[in-house]
Amino acid sequence: MRTFDAVVVGSGFGGAVAACRLAERGGSVVVLERGRRWERTDFPRPGQPRARWWFQGDERGLFELRRFAGMKVIVAAGVGGGSLVYTNVQKIPPAAAFQGWPEPVSLDSLHPYYARVEEMLDPSPIPHPLVRLQAFEAAHATLGRAEGLERPPLAIRWGEGDLERANRFGALQKPCNLCGQCIFGCDRHAKNTLDLTYLKRAETLGAEVWPLCQVNRIEPRALGYEVRFRRLPDREAGKPEEETVAARRLYLAAGSLGTTELLLRARDVDATLPKLSRRLGEGWSPNGDFFAGLIGSRIPIQPTVGPSVAAGYESAPEGFYVLEGAIPPAAAEPHKTLLRLVNHLLSLRLFFSGRSDSSSPGDTPACADPESEELLRHMGVFFLMGRESSHPSTPFGTGGRLRLGPRGELELDWDARESELLFGRIRRYLAELGRGYGGWMVVPERWWAPDLGSVHPLGGCGMGRDASAGVVDAFGRVFGYENLFVCDGSIVPRALGVPPSMTIAALAEHVVENSVSG
Ligand SMILES: Cc1cc2nc3c(=O)[nH]c(=O)nc-3n(C[C@H](O)[C@H](O)[C@H](O)COP(=O)(O)OP(=O)(O)OC[C@H]3O[C@@H](n4cnc5c(N)ncnc54)[C@H](O)[C@@H]3O)c2cc1C
Ligand code: SF4
Repeated sequence: MRTFDAVVVGSGFGGAVAACRLAERGGSVVVLERGRRWERTDFPRPGQPRARWWFQGDERGLFELRRFAGMKVIVAAGVGGGSLVYTNVQKIPPAAAFQGWPEPVSLDSLHPYYARVEEMLDPSPIPHPLVRLQAFEAAHATLGRAEGLERPPLAIRWGEGDLERANRFGALQKPCNLCGQCIFGCDRHAKNTLDLTYLKRAETLGAEVWPLCQVNRIEPRALGYEVRFRRLPDREAGKPEEETVAARRLYLAAGSLGTTELLLRARDVDATLPKLSRRLGEGWSPNGDFFAGLIGSRIPIQPTVGPSVAAGYESAPEGFYVLEGAIPPAAAEPHKTLLRLVNHLLSLRLFFSGRSDSSSPGDTPACADPESEELLRHMGVFFLMGRESSHPSTPFGTGGRLRLGPRGELELDWDARESELLFGRIRRYLAELGRGYGGWMVVPERWWAPDLGSVHPLGGCGMGRDASAGVVDAFGRVFGYENLFVCDGSIVPRALGVPPSMTIAALAEHVVENSVSG
């Protein structure tokens, strides 16, 4: 059994930061990551087999879909975690999002850590004029909502041409070509993902990153922890092999679901960490995620050009944030029959409303079918999020609750009424926005997807002032256990209402700095 100064479980926004900062301190570090290493040419594309898409059973794909009662959650699997598939938005939440967090963590105290994340991931607003951007801004201006508009910082390498150049960590990247595939992984490595930034630096400094290693058991030893994991075969054939490593310090960063599940198992099944707080699993939030689509916009949108997200709108009084999104061209092409049908229905409406073809000179075809193309050009997608009713007046302990079911599988108790107040505001805004575009807003929740969904799971191992209020303290230290830390989205005690990755990375900076200096 090999022994390290530190073991990090998971390589997303929490784990990558931890690995990098620990390696900078000079100790031996290993990162155990269940997903594969995704090279530029590996990312899944429509038409490729399921095993490339999904991480489930014998499949080692990029996405994991967890189905709970009334809630579906999508996360990523791979070296770099959520950064591989995220829409690149690096956003600092408003001060209101930190109400009720344990002292001394606040927006002010995290500022130096946000600055470090910014330095590493180098986010900046899109420098290109896009039809989509102008449409989003025009629709909000029509509604008198111009004030909350923004072009959020995106962790993307901008530039012209095809030239591949090494970034400051030595990873090769090409500039973004606005292909719109960010959520399926970037085959130009134009996204400043964690494998090309924090993890690249960690590995240069000697940290080891072991892909396809799924941790399933944690046990304290006299001088630290033993961590048992399954080394997963790359392909379906082959049997996983059990291995163990040991470390003086253990950093858990398997994400809100992954870390909470590991700790629940350690407390309730293996009984290796029996003193864990009874708050474990509580305070879970989907971050108020909501999704909507728009068809038949009067203003051309051209959603197939540009990164997955380019513009945002924040409504502070209503407590939500919206991002306009891209439709990846490769995802549109296989659905052209459906697109053609919707286009026929819409053309009747457009005929009666007297709209002529309003394509703009900058538009380029994304779909080899003129009718689908016409519909696509006037479609939009919107990703919304906000702070649910559990925020900020109700105490920690409300929100969802993750727990193990009778067969040991992760289950979630989530009461959709938690979201109702927020979603009511969001629906009213979306109806307005549809009018701003002069189109039809389609809300999937009302039609074909009655379950809620989230790509921003938070909580489960929330920070609290003591074990009666949280699972970890304000420095990510697990109550009841020395040298055991959590530094991922699971420690965020309630919804942030904005994309959370920058806050998770900043918290990891804060946790690791204090863990080695304390
Ligand atoms: C499609 C999509 C778009 C998004 N867009 C944005 C955005 O624009 N901006 C933003 O801020 N956020 C965005 N997010 C959310 C963001 O990706 C997450 O909030 C963030 O990645 C969470 O960081 P984390 O460190 O908590 O977990 P993750 O990044 O999920 O990392 C956890 C890692 O642990 C690994 N793991 C899990 N269990 C185990 C185990 N037992 N053993 C070993 N390894 C394990 C996982 O494979 C994963 O790599 C998006 C998410 C999705 C899915
Ligand atoms: S738009 Fe395309 S090239 Fe640009 S970051 Fe996204 S996937 Fe990469």
